[in-house]
Amino acid sequence: AEKVDLISKCIRTFHDFPTKGIPFKDICPILKDPKALAAVTDLFEEHVRRSYPQVDLVVGLDARGFLFGPLLAQRLGVGFAPIRKKGKLPGPTLSVSYSLEYAKAEAEMQEDAVSAGQKVLIVDDLLATGGTLHAACELIKQQKAEVLACLVVIELKYLNGSEKLQSTPVFSLIQY
Ligand code: 5GP
Repeated sequence: AEKVDLISKCIRTFHDFPTKGIPFKDICPILKDPKALAAVTDLFEEHVRRSYPQVDLVVGLDARGFLFGPLLAQRLGVGFAPIRKKGKLPGPTLSVSYSLEYAKAEAEMQEDAVSAGQKVLIVDDLLATGGTLHAACELIKQQKAEVLACLVVIELKYLNGSEKLQSTPVFSLIQY
């Protein structure tokens, strides 16, 4: 609980970002505080070691999943692979399109990043409607790999994103 407090003190809200009416949760102060950043990694690691003794790969989502995912992967002694917005990754990729609130988006992963049968954890900073994490799960499943769980720092409970993820468990450190 001490670690959760340390992290929650580092989350601030900016209203009307990126557009009017959105209360944006800013996680940058977590990165600025080495103790808070270590607390995030500690809590993720503890949960994974308790619940998922066998993990093959950590996947992080563009862009803030890249800040937390590799730290966890290093702790677990496994590799990391990025899921990126369309057009950013070289070589053969797999892609999935999904809808955002007002637009369509496409997420991509390198074809050789994950292989069939691997057990994967997906990391992002925040779960809102669940559209982004759901698309990421689809990409992993396209590769016939298994998503053990999604790990996020913040979950906006009132948007019911975890329902969209159906049977994939979500672990969050802080809920609003
Ligand atoms: P969803 O697809 O669940 O609706 O939105 C989650 C995605 O949007 C995540 O990749 C997350 O980084 C980003 N996002 C949406 N709202 C916020 C917010 O308030 N703060 C931060 N840091 N990211 C957000």
